[in-house]
Amino acid sequence: MFSSATLRLTGWYMVLLMSLSILFSIVLFTVARNEFGRALGPMRPGEIRFMLTDKDAQTVRQQRIDDSTARLVVSLVIFNLAVLVGGGALSYALAKRTLRPLEVSHEAQVRFTSDAAHELRTPLTVMQTEVEVALRQTKTTLPQAKKVLASTLEEVARLRTLTDHLLQLATEQELSLTTVRLDEAVIEAVTRVVTLAQSKHIAVENTVGVARILAHHDSLVTVIGILLDNAIKYSPDNSTITLRTTLVGGEVAISVTDTGIGISSEDQTKIFERFYRVDSSRTKQTVEGYGLGLSLAQRLVLAMNGRLEVRSELGSGSVFTVTLTRA
Ligand code: ADP
Repeated sequence: MFSSATLRLTGWYMVLLMSLSILFSIVLFTVARNEFGRALGPMRPGEIRFMLTDKDAQTVRQQRIDDSTARLVVSLVIFNLAVLVGGGALSYALAKRTLRPLEVSHEAQVRFTSDAAHELRTPLTVMQTEVEVALRQTKTTLPQAKKVLASTLEEVARLRTLTDHLLQLATEQELSLTTVRLDEAVIEAVTRVVTLAQSKHIAVENTVGVARILAHHDSLVTVIGILLDNAIKYSPDNSTITLRTTLVGGEVAISVTDTGIGISSEDQTKIFERFYRVDSSRTKQTVEGYGLGLSLAQRLVLAMNGRLEVRSELGSGSVFTVTLTRA
């Protein structure tokens, strides 16, 4: 698709270039031809000596005009051929360069759509299989039916999170920033992960004090929620996760520290990419997720004019830090 578009754009550049070049040649030719007649002027004394009549002088003059015109025509044809060849190559390079950003964004969109479709298919297949098996059984007891429904509900919840994240990632809306109480947003985010933390007997230590920052309340809660959710998911049972703030100049750094599995330096550069998940065979754990949380968190933090950074050591734990402007 993009190679034919590149050729078409090259064609248009060439049409423009050649039109200008031919127009320039015509103008030059017309002006030069008029000037030849005038500039050659009267014959030089040496020439006149051999002229018998005015008619001879006129013939010689015409001959010189014709010779110069022929040389000019040859030069202009060579010039136009050079423009055609050189301009063709240049136009192609220029067309390729013009279309490259579009091609990159198109590739990203195609990848995003196919990855999203792939992720959506897995829970749907699980639900379909479970419901089909349940329907095939002739005598389904109430507890069995409840089990299927509970499992389906779990998958629906997962699909809901996935579609929420996909929607938020797909819409490039601008966030209106206001003064937000950081401590309140943190408490809201902690409340959302309490059940998950309790299921793994993980303590969440919140040392965030009163601070006012320039942010978007809901997005800030989502970002801290994602970081806490990950910290819990990738930490061992009975561990502790700590939330801290540091004031540096006009900025506030909010850090989420865990003592979990950690992330290798190679993976640290990739975890913010959409759908990227660290190979579970390396982490020896199967943790649920779609690889969208951190890319969404980074999108939201950037929209709040902040930074999201990670420091981590494999096997020791991770620190994710969000830096935002103080209000
Ligand atoms: P998800 O957690 O749904 O897989 P994320 O985008 O939130 O997706 O994270 C991407 C990957 O980064 C995760 O799959 C995991 O391998 C790694 N990761 C994120 N947070 C942590 C953490 N606190 N400790 C260890 N690994 C993490």
